Amino acid sequence: MARRSARLLMAALLAAIPLPALADAAPQIALTFDDIPAHSLLPPGETRVAVIDRIIAELKAARAPAFGFANAGKGEPGELDAVLARWSEAGLPFGNHGYNHLNLDAVGEPTFVAEIDRNDAELAPRGMKRWFRYPFLAEGKNPAVRDAVRKALADRHYHIAGVSLSFDDWAWNEPYSRCATQGNQSAIADLETRYLDAARADAEAARAASKARFGRDVPYVLLLHIGAFDARMLPRLLDLYRGMGFQFITLEQAQRDKFYAATDPREPGPTPALLRTTPLPPKPGAEVCSR
Ligand SMILES: [Zn+2]
Repeated sequence: MARRSARLLMAALLAAIPLPALADAAPQIALTFDDIPAHSLLPPGETRVAVIDRIIAELKAARAPAFGFANAGKGEPGELDAVLARWSEAGLPFGNHGYNHLNLDAVGEPTFVAEIDRNDAELAPRGMKRWFRYPFLAEGKNPAVRDAVRKALADRHYHIAGVSLSFDDWAWNEPYSRCATQGNQSAIADLETRYLDAARADAEAARAASKARFGRDVPYVLLLHIGAFDARMLPRLLDLYRGMGFQFITLEQAQRDKFYAATDPREPGPTPALLRTTPLPPKPGAEVCSR
């Protein structure tokens, strides 16, 4: 009886003592950069090589790993080799993003798979990893088409690169080029603010959705592009994520999480989509520096 009382007393005491909240593990993020060697318009005086050099320098300064995705059919003559050489010499891996960045839903499976193979033939000798990122994230609206392409990827021993974070960073590059051509510094400052606001809103919404669905932060995979405005903003963008507590990890590390199980093309698709369920602030369009 005494022992039972002691046990009850202990239980009552434990219930009364608030346990310290378990510290949440730091959220993790893997950076990916699509459209090597050439994404969107360049502002005057800018080059593809200068863009990649700035991105590489910022990644190194932040000790942030990154994975690139290349289109061998894009860019001016010589740009692919120049840009890829720099990326590879920095120790950064790259994968297949289709030879000409075609949309599966527009061209159909045979053309799309031929694009994968054509890109593979160009890039494998340059050290490509067997990872594939769908252009426009279009995996095939028709399930039969989607499954056929997944089978083709599995037969070729590809992993599929997922995307769980994206704030449509690509949409800033063309307006930036126009504003820079005009020398419109206040419009550029406005673009900078909007870019960071969108990145923050996306990350906050994705974290909230992940916690609601899974009770935790899944490791996030962020989609970015090799654009001049992305290069300009990267130091501030990486600071923003660090300030939110994110740790930078590799794509391979992120996709080991079971959330990404369907990035194995032998599994039934589709791959996991964006986590956020709320819309982002409007992205800049043709109205910016349209004069
Ligand atoms: Zn792309």
